[in-house]
Amino acid sequence: MADPSGFLRHGREDAARRPVDERLGDWREVYRELPAAERDQRVGTQAGRCMDCGIPFCHSGSAGCPLGNLIPEWNDLVRRGDWAMAGERLHATNNFPEFTGRLCPAPCEAACVLAISPDAGGAVAIKRVESTIADVSWERGYVEPVRPAVSSGRRVAVVGSGPAGLAAAQQLTRAGHEVTVFERDDRLGGLLRYGIPEFKMEKKVLDRRLAQLRAEGTRFVTGCEVGGAGLPVSQLRADYDAVVLAVGALRGRDTDLPGRSLSGVHLAMDHLVPANRACEGDGPTSIDARGKHVVIIGGGDTGADCYGTAVRQGALSVTQLDQYPMPPSQRDDSRSPWPVWPWILRTYAAHEEGGSRRFAVAVESFEGDGAVSSIRLREVQVRKDPATGARSVVPVGDQVQELPADLVLLAIGFEGVEHMPLLDGLGLTLSPRGTVSCGQDWQTAAPGVFVCGDAHRGASLVVWAIAEGRSVAHAVDAYLTGASDLPAPVRPN
Ligand code: SF4
Repeated sequence: MADPSGFLRHGREDAARRPVDERLGDWREVYRELPAAERDQRVGTQAGRCMDCGIPFCHSGSAGCPLGNLIPEWNDLVRRGDWAMAGERLHATNNFPEFTGRLCPAPCEAACVLAISPDAGGAVAIKRVESTIADVSWERGYVEPVRPAVSSGRRVAVVGSGPAGLAAAQQLTRAGHEVTVFERDDRLGGLLRYGIPEFKMEKKVLDRRLAQLRAEGTRFVTGCEVGGAGLPVSQLRADYDAVVLAVGALRGRDTDLPGRSLSGVHLAMDHLVPANRACEGDGPTSIDARGKHVVIIGGGDTGADCYGTAVRQGALSVTQLDQYPMPPSQRDDSRSPWPVWPWILRTYAAHEEGGSRRFAVAVESFEGDGAVSSIRLREVQVRKDPATGARSVVPVGDQVQELPADLVLLAIGFEGVEHMPLLDGLGLTLSPRGTVSCGQDWQTAAPGVFVCGDAHRGASLVVWAIAEGRSVAHAVDAYLTGASDLPAPVRPN
């Protein structure tokens, strides 16, 4: 039973961040570590703001948590100091709450009833509660390997070790199947390893979870291009009873604007991957922002990751461009009664660290002699066709502005699955969205081959990847055994 007046006595309190000067001196997570007792008390107070709503919009539905996280339940357990049970209830629906607690833009918070009224003090800081439960669970030894009670004797190959693949692998291993995860890179984790900077999630958080999966019996093979010389399709099909494709959607959206071929204009991932590799000790990064005027095109998560990375690399200036207008939370008229759509127009920790943002602008061209030295941009409006919902970007006025730029990073989204021999070998073609299609049982056109995560959905949130990984595990388990008790929180789109 929740505290019915907690939200009247306490406002929202997000996790405190370390001072900017301190965090720019390292790559560690931006959050300030509090003494355990103080942290537990503060997060307990925040959890106590939850009203245990009759219809908890945070928990499910079209706008809430895709995993169906039992948010009011564990909020109340934290309020009462029962961290062990809170950890148990959190893991009941989420394999990796330490990932979502750090990385998810929290549709649950946008859906929280307390977010609707500015006088209610803001949404419950659900992400903070979630990540703290997860961290406390690890600190106090509540997270243990869950070894399968029986063995099915069936073998499953999971291709890709991002959050969708890992969630599918953990669920299927625990159901008694012999699971091997194949990763083409030299280390495990996919985007979690080489796409997400340390300042958002330190790799030790990923590594401790991988150790749990190993202890449960999941096998891992790195440096293996499935469908190529590493594991030809014929051998894959002969050795495994089912295959799960969790290969992501990493084909970056590009542009053909004038000057795109100038050196110094790169896709965002070409900047982030070597920067993350450098943090892993692989030597200096190949695209370094040090001493450069950096312009980032695109206002989403990936752009913010480039932003924080460029600032830490010692950029001379960092400017992030967004076609959309300034978020309501930063305008004087911020007392809108409705929550801001959580994954557009967000402000990130990186934006406190220097640099600047420009809103409602679009690039016209990249300028330079061999190498980019500036960009030309115009003010724009994003218009929505009321009949079709299609958006278009329309210039406003004639004024063209010029901005110095000797490193330009394109963070304008992803177009789907990269070309890979595995898909050809399986006889699979991509949908017009660049993704792998499947039926309502998550099975592709190739019998016994399933798909989940960004490869199915297109580039999306970590919470959706985990939800799809759990759901595909249910489908594969049913395919192999005839029925499954595993949860399936979402359906294919
Ligand atoms: Fe608690 Fe907000 Fe969910 Fe209501 S919507 S149960 S207040 S977290």
